[in-house]
Amino acid sequence: MPLYEYYCRHCDGVFEYFRPIRDAALPAPCPQCHQEGQRIMSTFTAFTMRDGYPRRLPDKGTYWHLGREVKRLATRMRHYEHPELAEPEPQPMPTKGELKEKEERKRAAEEEKRYLDRWGMEKVGDRLLLPAPKQRRKTGGRTIITPQGRAESQD
Ligand SMILES: [Zn+2]
Repeated sequence: MPLYEYYCRHCDGVFEYFRPIRDAALPAPCPQCHQEGQRIMSTFTAFTMRDGYPRRLPDKGTYWHLGREVKRLATRMRHYEHPELAEPEPQPMPTKGELKEKEERKRAAEEEKRYLDRWGMEKVGDRLLLPAPKQRRKTGGRTIITPQGRAESQD
């Protein structure tokens, strides 16, 4: 049996109803108020509106946006696209300036690494770790061994 669409004047809503073709033109019972609804053309889905949006029965509190069901009204739309239906936005292509900046950052990082390697230093976060002393230091006749074998720079 085909599906037909009907309009209930009482509820001001559109509902669907399965019935034989020969009965299509007859009024159909509204699922909400059981009063008779008049048949409408199924392409005419935007027949009745809620806050300016098409509404259907049984009323689930949803809205219809360009023939598709959505939970909430769109407050902001780009190009009439409802946020619930919108495709995820593609990642914007990096601009020429951004690419250049990235390249420069990379080069600076490489240069810094070369410098640190040369002096046996290590960078942890924004702290610079000095190389581990190779020999024991003598202070006042006592031998001090640094805790982790390396000292942190103070700045
Ligand atoms: Zn009704």
